[in-house]
Amino acid sequence: MITTKKKHNPFTVASKLVKKSIAISFGRSANDFCAKSCRVYGACYATRIERMYTDLEKKMLNHYMHGPVWVLNKALAQLPNRFIPWARLSVDGALPAKSDMEPKRWKVYVRKLRELVAKCSARGAKWHIPVETMGKARTYRKELRGLGVVVRRSSQARTVKKLLSENDTRSWIAATEIHKGCVNNSEKARNVELAQSVATEARKHNISAVVCPAITSDSQCGKCTACSNESVQLVVYPFHP
Ligand code: SF4
Repeated sequence: MITTKKKHNPFTVASKLVKKSIAISFGRSANDFCAKSCRVYGACYATRIERMYTDLEKKMLNHYMHGPVWVLNKALAQLPNRFIPWARLSVDGALPAKSDMEPKRWKVYVRKLRELVAKCSARGAKWHIPVETMGKARTYRKELRGLGVVVRRSSQARTVKKLLSENDTRSWIAATEIHKGCVNNSEKARNVELAQSVATEARKHNISAVVCPAITSDSQCGKCTACSNESVQLVVYPFHP
């Protein structure tokens, strides 16, 4: 466990979030809380970023070692008392599953998480809350009920047919190939094209779909709020560098 005398800042920053957003993560990507069943386990954008920025990776390990309740206590104590346009959980890593904690600890965790969500919402925040398994989606939808937030499940569908047969609020990564190496510009362009064709196909099936503009343009999360919007059933992320 890493301990320093300096006050620990529990938040992280990401260039794709609008100014004054807050982001809270509980562990490293493709480690700690991420389910191995995730289609992009070890290959996602966050894993690459943590490989590049080792201080961020250390910070996430520190969060994991101290535990989610510790992170939430720090976040609640240091929550800025001003308008918060956008709030995001798990920019790095994933949310813990219920089985990751003792039942009593889980209850404290849920209470603190609800408090944080409610306080940020009262300051104007719209929430992006992604989870990578159906089990977590069910759990967090139940635990955060009544707070007016969307829990968006990352669909693990291997085919477009399967993706379109699902019916909850979800996201999907459009990739001509999933791998751990670099995604060059021409590959990204092919993935954007695939994402757009999947979104078009979804709309033909009366599924409201958005291709993430933070990946396809200079837009940012918080300007686009699709992930927090219950009426957007499917958000498609082109696999990108
Ligand atoms: S679709 Fe919009 S809200 Fe969702 S990640 Fe992309 S920019 Fe952010």
